[in-house]
Amino acid sequence: MQEELLNQIQSFHGHLCPGLAMGIQAANIALDKIGKHSADEEVVAIVETNMCAVDAIQFLTGCTFGKGNLIHRDFGKNAFTFVRRSDNKAIRVLTKPEAWGDPNDEHRQLFAKVRAGSATAEEKSRFQEMHVAKANRILETAPEQLFEVTEMTMQPPKKARIHTSIVCAECGEAAMETRIRKFGGRDLCIPCFEKIEPR
Ligand SMILES: [Zn+2]
Ligand SMILES: [Zn+2]
Repeated sequence: MQEELLNQIQSFHGHLCPGLAMGIQAANIALDKIGKHSADEEVVAIVETNMCAVDAIQFLTGCTFGKGNLIHRDFGKNAFTFVRRSDNKAIRVLTKPEAWGDPNDEHRQLFAKVRAGSATAEEKSRFQEMHVAKANRILETAPEQLFEVTEMTMQPPKKARIHTSIVCAECGEAAMETRIRKFGGRDLCIPCFEKIEPR
C-alpha cells in the first residue's frame, strides 16, 4: 500500500494498530470485489463491530456513518459485509480468529496491563513497539490467511432518506420526523418522550 495513503488513514484514525490494519485489508477486498470508493451510496457496508477496523473501512471504501451507507450491527464480530446497489452483489468478510496471532502472546498480555493502567513506562514502550509490529505483520499477510470471504446476493438496506424535521413541543429542538413520538397530542423528541413517559 502506498505510504501516503497509509499515513492518511493513520491520521484519520489517530494511530496505527492491528485493528486498523485488519480494516485496511478488509476494505481492499471490498474495493477489489464490490467496487471503488463510494461517492454516494453505491455500496453499503454492514459492520458487526465498532472497533478500529471500521475507521479504515470508512476511509477507504467511502461507506461512512454520515452518508448512511455504513450500518453497525452490534454483534461484536470482526465481520464486514459489502453490498453493491447496482446488482445486489455482496461479500461478507469474516476475520479468522487466528489472524490476530496467539491470544496468549506477550503483546496481548501487555495490552491487558496497559489498559488496566498497571504497565510500567518500559512495558508501555515495549507494548507500543509490538502493537505497531503486529499491525505491520497484518498488512503484509495475504488476505486469504486473514479472512473467510463469502460471496452472495442480498437486498441492500433502503437508501438514506431526507426527512422533514419537527420541533419538539418540550425542548424546542428540531428532530427528524421519524424520530418524533406523540404523547398527549404533543410531538416530542426521544429524550423528552423518555423523560415524560410514565414508567
Ligand atoms: Zn486503533
Ligand atoms: Zn425535546
